[in-house]
Amino acid sequence: MRKAGLGSWPERRRAMSPGRDALWFEGRTTSHGEFALRVRRAASALAGLGAGPGDRVAWTGGNHPSALETLYACGQLGAIWVPVNARLTAPEVSAVLGDSGASVVVHGRDHGPLADALRQPGVRWVAAEPPVTGGSESLPYEELLAAAQPDTRDVPVELDDPCLIMYTSGTTGKPKGAVLTHGNMTWNAVNQLLGFDFTQHERTLALAPLFHIGGLNGTVNPTLLRGGCAVIVRGFDAAETLRVIEEQRINSFFAVPTMLDAMAREPGFHSRDLSALRTIGAAGAPVPLPTLRTWLDRGVTMQQAYGMTEAAPGCTVLDSADAERKAGSAGKAVFFTSVRVVRPDGDDADVDEVGEVIVRGPNVMAGYWNDPARTAEVLADGWYRTGDAGSLDAEGYLFIRDRYRDMFISGGENVYPAEVESALLALPEVMEAAVIGVPDERWGEVGLAFVVAGSEVDAGALRARLRERLAGFKVPRQFRFVDELPKTATGKVRKPALRALAGVPRE
Ligand code: ATP
Ligand code: MG
Repeated sequence: MRKAGLGSWPERRRAMSPGRDALWFEGRTTSHGEFALRVRRAASALAGLGAGPGDRVAWTGGNHPSALETLYACGQLGAIWVPVNARLTAPEVSAVLGDSGASVVVHGRDHGPLADALRQPGVRWVAAEPPVTGGSESLPYEELLAAAQPDTRDVPVELDDPCLIMYTSGTTGKPKGAVLTHGNMTWNAVNQLLGFDFTQHERTLALAPLFHIGGLNGTVNPTLLRGGCAVIVRGFDAAETLRVIEEQRINSFFAVPTMLDAMAREPGFHSRDLSALRTIGAAGAPVPLPTLRTWLDRGVTMQQAYGMTEAAPGCTVLDSADAERKAGSAGKAVFFTSVRVVRPDGDDADVDEVGEVIVRGPNVMAGYWNDPARTAEVLADGWYRTGDAGSLDAEGYLFIRDRYRDMFISGGENVYPAEVESALLALPEVMEAAVIGVPDERWGEVGLAFVVAGSEVDAGALRARLRERLAGFKVPRQFRFVDELPKTATGKVRKPALRALAGVPRE
């Protein structure tokens, strides 16, 4: 086989371990041999809809086998897979489809109305499952596959060719389409396999959304490469997740810390048999120490990681053995990837000095889709500027402080809003909080805190309580009580929207 890249993985697995489980979804198991045939049929079906080398095929929905089948099928065709966040509104999806120029869109059962709203000439819509409502004009995926020949195509695909365009969360502005190559996908999987103890018989849970890089590449793709099985659940429900972990004898999964908190609060956390569960990959934010200890008490270790869409995503991992000793750290660079912390002039920061985190490695994206200017801003000499503020300690462990651009300077001192937000969230009256810097005549900038309060509390009381925990320059001068915070579809707070609310936009 002369093909490289993701499209060749199912074929190689079919040759090597056809009988082993590849996928489980709602009671149905698919072996690696069957999976490879379904991917070939999907490739034929997509080719029949006109998708060829370089063409974009979008996919959106709750977790479903069609996500992985179409991803690998695109790999075989040399087409580019475009996962779209299923929680986006129609205008937001329309923007992603327009930007990527997708000619085929595969959608889940809940997205019939979206298909109806956005259908336009030249774009073929395919329903991965019969839609619950609407979507009657979408082509039925299963029928397309059944009618397709599982032929082997021999489209030359190289590791440097684009595999997918994944849009970032849009936390700091408009989502950017990170172009990830087949090489990026492969090397991320290799880095993950070297950083986690995946076995050939791994049963991993596909819990986080497959349209996000962590859900797709945290444990799922590495497990498939290793010849293990991805147990797919449609979405996150804490009690149901615990049930599936017990029933399916799950060994690992990827999650964000809020999911782990929610699960630990369920009665099933103590009554379910979690004995097969070995490790959890957690990223997106540091796992709070109490949450970590709760899971450790249940015999489950945690590998905390730091990454981003642009790095496919793994950059660093904190080995579970270091989890308590280095609490709050995102760990060390993954095997084939380098991480530095630099000053604005590009020199390396000293030990413990905060600077911008930059990353280089074969997992770092080729660039942003259709956006050479933005690509040039963040990629130089193979180093990707993450926009995150962090520091390295004497042993080389990375600590992420906040987004570099969210930092503000009050009376000459750097303030990292994430630290102030953690202190606010630790107060029982505070449900949610977000802090931005706003101009101030005396101090240059001061903190403005947006607070969603759970019970009656005023600014004076919050300020006094924060003063017990934080240096004075970190304590917000201004407070605004709001009913909710503006968030992205991923659930991250949109600071630019808060700046606009405060009348201090910066872009
Ligand atoms: P956008 O780039 O569109 O503003 P985004 O950066 O939120 O959105 P993602 O690629 O989903 O989009 O998220 C990556 C970011 O998440 C990282 O740059 C970092 O700020 C944050 N992050 C990831 N892992 C961790 C971690 N372990 N600790 C702290 N922050 C983390
Ligand atoms: Mg980002």
